[in-house]
Formats: sequence, C-alpha cells, structure tokens
Amino acid sequence: MERVEAKDYVFHRDFTKEYPMIVRAEGVYLYDEQGNRYLDASSGAIAANLGHGVTEIAEAMAEQAKTAGFVHTLRFETKVLHELAAEIGKMAPAPLNRVYFTSGGSEANESAMKLARQYHRDRGKLEKHIVIGRWQGYHGNTLGSLSAGGDIKRRQPYTPNLAKFEHIYSPYCHRCPYSRTEEICQREKRMPCAEELERLVKEIGPEFVSSFICEPIVGSQQGAVVPPKGYLQRVREICDQYEIVLIIDEVMTGFGRTGTDFAIEQFGVVPDIITFGKGVSAGYAPLAGMIVSDQIVESLVANGNGRFIHGYTFSGHPVSVAAGLAAVRYYKQKNVLANGKEQGEYLFQRLRDLQKRHSSMGQIRGKGLLVGFELLADRSRDQLFPPSFGAADRLNHEALKRGAVFYPGAGTIDGVNGDHLLIGPPLTITREEIDELVAILDQSLAAFEEQVYTITGKEE
Ligand code: PMP
Repeated sequence: MERVEAKDYVFHRDFTKEYPMIVRAEGVYLYDEQGNRYLDASSGAIAANLGHGVTEIAEAMAEQAKTAGFVHTLRFETKVLHELAAEIGKMAPAPLNRVYFTSGGSEANESAMKLARQYHRDRGKLEKHIVIGRWQGYHGNTLGSLSAGGDIKRRQPYTPNLAKFEHIYSPYCHRCPYSRTEEICQREKRMPCAEELERLVKEIGPEFVSSFICEPIVGSQQGAVVPPKGYLQRVREICDQYEIVLIIDEVMTGFGRTGTDFAIEQFGVVPDIITFGKGVSAGYAPLAGMIVSDQIVESLVANGNGRFIHGYTFSGHPVSVAAGLAAVRYYKQKNVLANGKEQGEYLFQRLRDLQKRHSSMGQIRGKGLLVGFELLADRSRDQLFPPSFGAADRLNHEALKRGAVFYPGAGTIDGVNGDHLLIGPPLTITREEIDELVAILDQSLAAFEEQVYTITGKEE
C-alpha cells in the first residue's frame, strides 16, 4: 500500500473503512470538514454526557495542564484528586467511600477484579480467585475484562480466553433463557437466572470464587435491559452467603445516565465495589476508576499493610481529574440529571409512537437517557436478525447519512443473536433536539426497512 496521506499511517479499529473527519463539536452536534452536521445520539459511546464544547471543563483542564500538567500519583498528592475523590465518594451509597482512579473502564474492571483477589488473599482465603460474569455483559477489551464479559464476537478471535472466568445468563424477561415470564418469577418469588449464580458457585466450590461482576442495566451488549425486581437483591444475598465480592460495573450507567448518580441506587442494593468511567469526565479526558467499600480498604490496612499491589502511570492524571472535577460540579450546578430524566421519558414516549409505524422496532427498554430497542427481522414471529446480517450497523449507516449517529449493538442480545440500537444522547439535550433525533431515526428506519425487507422478504 502506498502511503500518501497522514491517514495512511493510522491503525484504527476498522482501518479499512472511511469515517467523517470531525473538526468541531458543540452541544449535541458534531461537524465534519465538509460542514455536515451530526446529532450525537450516542454521546460518543455514552461518555459525552454533558455534550460538546463545555468551556468550564476545557478551562479547568487547561489550567491544570499549565500549573502542574503531570504529577505521578503513586509518589505525590494533588488537590484536584482529593476533591474529586470526595465528590464521588459522597455520591456513592455508603459504605462505598474510597475512590481509586484509572484511565479507562477496562482498567477499572481489571483493578476491581484484582482488588477482590487481594482482599481474599490478605484474609487467608488463598484459593478464592475465580471471577463470575454474565454472557450478556461487557466489561472492556483488555484480556481480563474481555474474559469477564460475554460478547462472543469479541471473545472468539481471542480464544482461549483467560481461564477461571465463568458465566451465567443475565435476566432477559422478554426472551427468558429459562422460558419463564416475569409474572411467574414474581409470583413464585424465584428467579432461575439469579439461582443459577448459586448453582454455579456451588459447582465451582465457593472457596474458589472471588468476585461476581455485572452491569446494573446491560448497556452495549443488550441495549439497556433493566433487570426484574428482586434480581440484584438475590445476587447480593448469594454473594454475601459465599463471601463473594460484588462488583457493579457502572462505566456506562454512572453519572446520571439512567436518571440517578449511579443506576444501582434504583435497585436498593449496595455492592462492594462500583466501577465507573465514561461520564465521570463527561468524555473530556481519559478517566475512570472504582469506588471501594470501607470494609475492603480497612482489610487492606489490617491484613495487607495498606497496600493495593497495583498502579498505572496515568492513574489519577491531574488533567483528567481536573476534567472530572469540573464535570461533576457541572452536573450538579446545571441540574443535568433532572433534564436527562425528563428528556428520557419524552424520548421513550416518542419511540413508542415510532414503533407503531416501523415493524423493525422490537421491544423498547431502558432508564433515563439510556434507551434501546431490538431490531426485528420478522415482527410477526418476534424474530431477531442473525449477527452476520449487520442490521444495527446498516441502520446506523442510514442515520449517519441523514445527520445522526447512534450506538449500534451487533448480534448479542441472547449472547449470540440479535441486533439492537442503543440511544444515549448527552443528558443536556433539549426537547426540540429529541424531536430532531426521532425525525432522523424515523427516516433512517424507513430506508433500513426498505433495504432489509427487500433482502429478507420478512415483514409484518
Ligand atoms: N464496562 C462497560 C459497562 C462499558 O460499557 C465499557 C465501554 N463500552 C467498558 C466497561 C470499558 O470501558 P473502556 O472502553 O473505557 O475501557
């Protein structure tokens, strides 16, 4: 290949494809070099919760870069880090008070799974090392976090994945892997999807199980699926009974995305560790981390000389942390969560209307401004698309041509099949902008349906 332009040196994820070159962004809009405008209905992978071009955040970063750009947090303290830790610690449910920073969500989950192992080890439980995750879960792309998640298409090219990572199915009442309905489970007060955790723990042997990791609302893999009432409580009970560290991955759901600071608050469950990322800096800088219970930190002090044997060069990078601090203050000052909740309800209602006219729209679900819907190949049979069809990518492509970008979820609803579309615009979006988002989606769905039903011949 002849290298002519600077872009010929780039090794991207899909480096064979062409993407628009974004030269400017403001509010919910991105602008490319040809002057085309895109409504960012994905917040750039559900991170830019406050929209683009927030001066307060940009200025806080510049100020920090000018005064003390990089200070290694393994050797020194910074004021911004203390202040942000305090903000986040106060936001999280007690007794989750201690905040550890990383650069990205994958690193945050790696850190949490390692900390869980050290916690057990320091207390003499040397064999507790196995992590249980869920087939419909995503925790990152590093080998450990990938192995904890269940995304087949990401895992398969790297098989064998890391050993000692086991999985259960997550609850999906609309297509229950146990052929039950939510009503039956609520009536009998028994959920096989939760009981499966206990069964697996017993099969492995509780003395070998270190942690269980899950998203409170499944994001990228399933498209905003909310667990049934009582599920997370039962998971908490099982973890307590067998001394398993419960890690709740709020990398996508945290910082107001689902209407509360952390989604777990809505389920009345307190985990041992919450991991976060994306929204903490509203996407302005690489920043993520974990919030750890006092009990785990106190145990490190009592049994492990107070040392977590871990660390990254850029843990708590002051410029990232300054972005986080400015973002967290902005969420509060501008009452962003209330707007996100209100616009989320409005979006939900508009999608319901849209569904009446588009047979490719299956179940709609979500909380706050994390909303998703299934894409159906055949509504009369409630049938999903096979992953090879690339339904979500096709729909997103139609949207891109019409000036909006969504978060396409490819072939993962039941762990293997089924595309969905995830919608997660900035929490600062206005009602008029939601109307524009829905209008573009409407046209894109029409074009998508014309295209796919010509190919598949399956329509209502
Ligand atoms: N956990 C969840 C729930 C996520 O949605 C993501 C990113 N999509 C990650 C972890 C990984 O975060 P990062 O890409 O910052 O490593």
